Amino acid sequence: MSNTTAPRYPLVLVPGLLGFVRLLGYPYWYGIVSALRRQGAKVFPVLVSSVHSSEVRGEQLLERIALVLKQTGADKVHLIGHSQGALTARYAAALKPQWVASVTSVAGPNHGSELADFLQRKAPHGSLRERVLAALLRGVARCMAWLETGDKGPRLPMDVAAAQHSLTAEGVAAFNAQYPQGLPDTWGGEGAAEVNGVRYYSWSGTLQAGITERGGNRFDGPNVACRLFARTFRREHGHCDGMVGRYSSHLGSVIGDEFPLDHFDIINQTFGLVGKGADPVKLFVEHAQRLHAAGL
Ligand code: CA
Repeated sequence: MSNTTAPRYPLVLVPGLLGFVRLLGYPYWYGIVSALRRQGAKVFPVLVSSVHSSEVRGEQLLERIALVLKQTGADKVHLIGHSQGALTARYAAALKPQWVASVTSVAGPNHGSELADFLQRKAPHGSLRERVLAALLRGVARCMAWLETGDKGPRLPMDVAAAQHSLTAEGVAAFNAQYPQGLPDTWGGEGAAEVNGVRYYSWSGTLQAGITERGGNRFDGPNVACRLFARTFRREHGHCDGMVGRYSSHLGSVIGDEFPLDHFDIINQTFGLVGKGADPVKLFVEHAQRLHAAGL
């Protein structure tokens, strides 16, 4: 395979809440890792705590980056984070900019998720509803940890309350005050293209009637969930992917914020079932070419 358009630095892929590398062989980045490798890129989908704060996940990511640097001999990596993985990547780049060539946020709640705000209102701290939801999330996360076949490392810690706080508008505002690199100054604007030698990029999608619920998504449960979750949005009502708002996703250079993709379509889930005419894998392949063209 040709590697003439492969990025110079390895790509480290960071999953979001309830993230994994492979569950019984089934990949989180469905068809994406293989497409990038066909392009000649060195790709490392990594595991961090599936349920925890962005800071704790970010510390774990730094350990994984150190291993990739050692294994490949490269002096930097590209970080591509989906959902909370974007905040995780931002934390790592803020602490060790010398290790990071770029951070790319894919449907990242860089200004919070209105779904997390809704859950906080409906299941406040200490309520029975919160305890039930937390127990459910812990149960799902434990099952996923048992089924993980893509990472053979030790069991990672879990903290539901920390994860939830890390995704609300209030929690992300506190995170942003400490790690503002790449954030836009104005709501809906773009951020700096480069901070401390690290390039910042983002892309995201929105639910679009007549498009996103058609095609393969007619048979995909997560699309139905996204359409239900979208009803909880206020500020970006009608302009979200079901879990993250269009403008909330902005970081650095905005490659696009209205791709017809729900929050799971954007990583080609499930089994490549996406809306009519959508091609989420192409966005990753084009981005790798973009990094290559930038000499990175
Ligand atoms: Ca889908």
